[in-house]
Amino acid sequence: MNESTKWIEKSKKYLWLPFTQMKDYDEDPLIISEGEGVYLTDINGKKYLDGYSSLWLNVHGHRKFEIDEAIIEQLKKISHSTLLGATNIPATELAEKLVGITPTNLTRVFYSDSGAEAVEIALKLAFQYWRNLGHPKKQKFVTTKNGYHGDTVGAISVGAVDIFHTVYHPLMFDSYKVSFPNVYRNESSDPETIKNECLHEVEQLFSEKNEEIAAFIIEGMIQGAGGMNVMPKGYLKGIEELCKKYNILLIVDEVATGFGRTGKMFSVEHENVQPDLMTIAKGITGGYLPIAATMASEKVYNAFYADYSELKTFFHGHSYTGNQLGCAAALANLELFEKEEIIKNVQSKSEYISEQLQSLNKLEHVGDIRQLGLMVGVELVKNKDTKEPFPWGDRIGYKTTLKMRELGMLSRPLGDVIVFMPPLATTYKELEQMIAIMKQAIKETTEVIAIP
Ligand SMILES: *Cc1c(COP(=O)(O)O)cnc(C)c1O
Repeated sequence: MNESTKWIEKSKKYLWLPFTQMKDYDEDPLIISEGEGVYLTDINGKKYLDGYSSLWLNVHGHRKFEIDEAIIEQLKKISHSTLLGATNIPATELAEKLVGITPTNLTRVFYSDSGAEAVEIALKLAFQYWRNLGHPKKQKFVTTKNGYHGDTVGAISVGAVDIFHTVYHPLMFDSYKVSFPNVYRNESSDPETIKNECLHEVEQLFSEKNEEIAAFIIEGMIQGAGGMNVMPKGYLKGIEELCKKYNILLIVDEVATGFGRTGKMFSVEHENVQPDLMTIAKGITGGYLPIAATMASEKVYNAFYADYSELKTFFHGHSYTGNQLGCAAALANLELFEKEEIIKNVQSKSEYISEQLQSLNKLEHVGDIRQLGLMVGVELVKNKDTKEPFPWGDRIGYKTTLKMRELGMLSRPLGDVIVFMPPLATTYKELEQMIAIMKQAIKETTEVIAIP
């Protein structure tokens, strides 16, 4: 047995992978051994373009010198000490930087290790905020249908992607789920009408139930895991206004959209929205280490600041919170954003790919292409005119990404939506190559399957 076969056998024998039917893995195993720039290499030496930023995380490519160095330098001092009742220099410095780059009313940083935890923290903070202020009836959360906020029990309770969440219903707390302004799948094709209808629905709920609602949670400008659904202009701003009017906290989940992904440092900047709480993770360390944070306003923070005996403390924290290596990586990541003008480049790269993606539109089974910055979803349908989906069991999206893998690019689909989320530092030439592979894989997969 050669070396790579040995590792593959071991991976099948010992591992249980996230969001993976292991029967699929057994058929199509993959072990990554190295990365450099936007390329990943597997143990057989095959190279792939990283078309999904190693699951929406990577910013500057792999083995980025400055981030590698920052971690090595920090390693020589200390790797981890606790943030419970104490702090460290990288966590403090990073907190100052984060407050500096997020919306002005966000003034406090509560660290954790993953997006889901950042969401759990936001939910618990919002809940306890009202309790601490003497409004214990405000307990409920409102979320959008098809929203995704992570996989822990609190996060799935405000999640609404049926295939991930239905099985856990008995475990979850109830939340209100309002319609998302999905422009592709709507009776009306006018984004303005759809926006107004959805805002109207929210206002009705708020006006009836505001005394029991703690917070509204929503992804920033685009639903990620729910299928890359871009909100019509003005919707998020409208939600912010309704939250203010009805005294409801606004939590914006920027886990996927933060750190330049949509062409702004944070997607809320597109509409100048000021959330009360904001969750950040994925791109925060450039895709290197598990750091996340829940940003809070001074108003929220102050509701917890009191004598210990008043029992207003936020009793929550994870062992690795504020990890120095992760914070050092995040600081190096943020420096690179400035030095390499990442945001400005994302804006021009997204214009470039928007033109390039037009060629996919001509394919018989591409129903819709949705894009905000370098966050793209290509929805495959059986019938372009009627928008009829492929039969669920055909797994067209999955098969398309397997074909992409064969052709030298990695991604993961969301049902029949092909995700294209390249590292922000991907060059124009690499973007062009990635789109060409995506096009060929879609063409080969859908046009073969579609033959009666
Ligand atoms: C990925 C994601 C999460 C969960 O983050 P993890 O780090 O995977 O726990 C939460 N919210 C959104 C919008 C996400 O895209």
